[in-house]
Amino acid sequence: MMLTKDVDTTLDAQLIARLGPDLVLVGEAVLPYCRDWHGDVQTGAVAVLRPRDTVEVQACVCTAVALGLAIVPQGGNTGLVLGATPDAPARQVVITLERMTRIRSLDADNFSAVVEAGAVLEVVKDRVAEAGLFFPLSLGAQGSCRIGGNVSTNAGGINVLRYGMTRELVLGLEVVLPDGSLYEGLSTLRKDNRGIDLKQLFIGAEGTLGIITAVSLKLLPAPDQVATALVGLAGLEDVIALYRRARRDCCDLMSAFEFMPPLAIVLAREAMPDLPIPMDATCPAYALIEISGSGLVDVEDLMQRFLEAAFESGLALDGVIAQSTAQARNLWAIREGMNLGQAQRGRHMRTDISVPLSRLADFVAEAEAAVLAEMPGCVCVSYGHVGDGNVHLNVLPDYTLGPDRVDPQILNAKKIVNAVLDRYDGSISAEHGIGRLKKDDFEARLPAVHRGLLTRIRQALDPAASMNPGCQIDLS
Ligand SMILES: Cc1cc2nc3c(=O)[nH]c(=O)nc-3n(C[C@H](O)[C@H](O)[C@H](O)COP(=O)(O)OP(=O)(O)OC[C@H]3O[C@@H](n4cnc5c(N)ncnc54)[C@H](O)[C@@H]3O)c2cc1C
Repeated sequence: MMLTKDVDTTLDAQLIARLGPDLVLVGEAVLPYCRDWHGDVQTGAVAVLRPRDTVEVQACVCTAVALGLAIVPQGGNTGLVLGATPDAPARQVVITLERMTRIRSLDADNFSAVVEAGAVLEVVKDRVAEAGLFFPLSLGAQGSCRIGGNVSTNAGGINVLRYGMTRELVLGLEVVLPDGSLYEGLSTLRKDNRGIDLKQLFIGAEGTLGIITAVSLKLLPAPDQVATALVGLAGLEDVIALYRRARRDCCDLMSAFEFMPPLAIVLAREAMPDLPIPMDATCPAYALIEISGSGLVDVEDLMQRFLEAAFESGLALDGVIAQSTAQARNLWAIREGMNLGQAQRGRHMRTDISVPLSRLADFVAEAEAAVLAEMPGCVCVSYGHVGDGNVHLNVLPDYTLGPDRVDPQILNAKKIVNAVLDRYDGSISAEHGIGRLKKDDFEARLPAVHRGLLTRIRQALDPAASMNPGCQIDLS
């Protein structure tokens, strides 16, 4: 999709005059900030504002609002729902947090850190690890996504099972509000029950209520033992049965439990031909399991005994336990390679769905069958965070029908899958948010009272509707 860029050049000049040239990018320089991660959408913006600290964020917000411009906050721009992609190039600026990357403090005794919103997730994880601590948020985009973006999308990832979504890892926030004032809530207290917890408003708000400039993070003791295994099974039902056993036998030590179809191995090989993959794609389903712990617990022994029992009972058909950190990394690379492989095949329909775990296998079977009944040349790729009931049921169109048939197939596949999802009382967005991409589907399912509350909260904080208009809901 390409939107026309129609920029009022006097606005560029006024922004530069008021904020100084170092803070303002204009012209061609804005384009990389106006393209989504998949490269499906390229738009534009009046300018990209690049503040270096919180006071400069306040100045950027006040200046943009004074000029009648709307603001699209941006972190690492890895979001998958177009929340950080402007949609009105002549009336919007992007404010990127990319220059605000400091770790302001790290308190090992309090198991907390205060980091600026532009800090890259992986950098934060590494810095925290140097202090012998652990920040559990883990996702494929962690080398690029930024903490402010993680909080604004309430990101999930592979460790939600044990540590919860980002919301559960946030102790406090600093936020520049749409009127330029500063909400100073960078508490590092674990227990603080003084009335309404205002920080919760901004978590998952996708930049619609203000710009997060810093975050107090909850840290944990670093697990010093991790056991990772890839297991082949007879189908998704069996993956879920294995998950139930793992919950019982490995209790709270299980930190990830992902399921993948055999096509994952094929796609990973396509994308990463040199990746050592210890199994062929011969089983109907695979589970990627991680158990971690520290101290006196022997997680390798636990994994070994757990899998032995799974083989003895006939549940596991094939399996490998990583013998080194490098081997474990390679197993996880299959999961990442599968995503790259899908992207390489071409534009496709992506979902981020959750249903009750007890109904996950039925849902996937029914939704895939419904898609293939209407569009037999398509390929369904269902995988995800099984313990969270979160499935990415993606559909690769029948590319042989020609490029002009790709978009209609994607639209149709989405309609079919969502119709099944509605019957299962599921969510159209388990972890990626709503952004602009899912707004229509979100609004179509929004009860009136829910919508009224969302509208009133936004209007109360942002009467001029300056913050990320067009994201999540329309305010008209
Ligand atoms: C390969 C890959 C794997 C992924 N895996 C997962 C996964 O497992 N789980 C998951 O949940 N997501 C996943 N994602 C999606 C994405 O990485 C997350 O949504 C991430 O949290 C976005 O962070 P970001 O810094 O890139 O935010 P951006 O994309 O820049 O922004 C996302 C939203 O937050 C807003 N925003 C950004 N920064 C701020 C701020 N400081 N203040 C206010 N609003 C702000 C933006 O306006 C936008 O609405 C994946 C993406 C990719 C590309």
